[in-house]
Amino acid sequence: MAMIAILTGAGVSTDSGIPDYRGPQGVWRTDPEAERLVTYGPYMADPEIRRRSWRMRLEGPVLEAEPNAAHHAIAAFERSGHALRVLTQNVDGLHQAAGVPERKVLELHGTARSVVCTACHARSSAAEALDRVRAGEDDPACRGCGGILKPATVMFGQRLDPVVLANATAIAKAAEVFLAVGSSLQVHPAAALAGIASEHGARLIIVNAEPTPYDPLAAELIREPIGTALPELLERLR
Ligand code: ZN
Repeated sequence: MAMIAILTGAGVSTDSGIPDYRGPQGVWRTDPEAERLVTYGPYMADPEIRRRSWRMRLEGPVLEAEPNAAHHAIAAFERSGHALRVLTQNVDGLHQAAGVPERKVLELHGTARSVVCTACHARSSAAEALDRVRAGEDDPACRGCGGILKPATVMFGQRLDPVVLANATAIAKAAEVFLAVGSSLQVHPAAALAGIASEHGARLIIVNAEPTPYDPLAAELIREPIGTALPELLERLR
């Protein structure tokens, strides 16, 4: 059966109340102070940056967010028996929350649902770490080794996990249809997956309100709102 890959970006989660932090117009790119909270060097070097970073996460919408119509449409498409892989630039875990099996989702920028120790690499739940912040630990350390904890996201200044990126690249090469949804396709290397898929013969369909650098390669461009356009598109691809 034809394998369909869906690359999802921030636009897929805006209907869930999560703004585009990371895109070219996002607050992390346009506000240098905010950017420091999610940049690896300053985060590791400065306890005050970490304290502010944890507070930002405590107040942010990501962990409370619920899947929206686009997430549910993708999950329903997967349940209907299609060979589907989701490659996501989002760190909110909403594809899995909607019911896409964990093994079919590649999180290119990691996940905000977990935290990782920068010393011993142990992973634990972000909800638990944030409970500790709420209870007064303003820079919670690893319970195992005392190391610095950080969200299991790929911060600025960090490389993508090479295994995740290699798997995503293989999926892009093998896909017969590649949907790029709600991504400006400007944050690399994730964005380049659209080009790789197209070069290897995938039918590239881009669903995004704004033009992207990969529009000239697309077989189809859809500018309508994702919440309605994506369910319609997936219905058509069944
Ligand atoms: Zn540790």
